[in-house]
Amino acid sequence: MQLTCPECQNQVNLSPYVNLAVGNVVECDVCGITLLINAISGETVTAEVVDEGK
Ligand SMILES: [Zn+2]
Repeated sequence: MQLTCPECQNQVNLSPYVNLAVGNVVECDVCGITLLINAISGETVTAEVVDEGK
C-alpha cells in the first residue's frame, strides 16, 4: 500500500503497520507528523494531518 504524506509529499513507509485500517494513525517517518487514515482504496491510502492541539 502507498501513502503520500499530505504535509511533506513524501512516501510514508507503511511496512510497520501490518493491519492498517481506516481510523488508524500512522507517523510520517520523513517529517514526523501524525496522520489519520481516511480511506484505503486498493493500494492507495489517503490520510489527513492530525492536529494534536499541542
Ligand atoms: Zn511527511
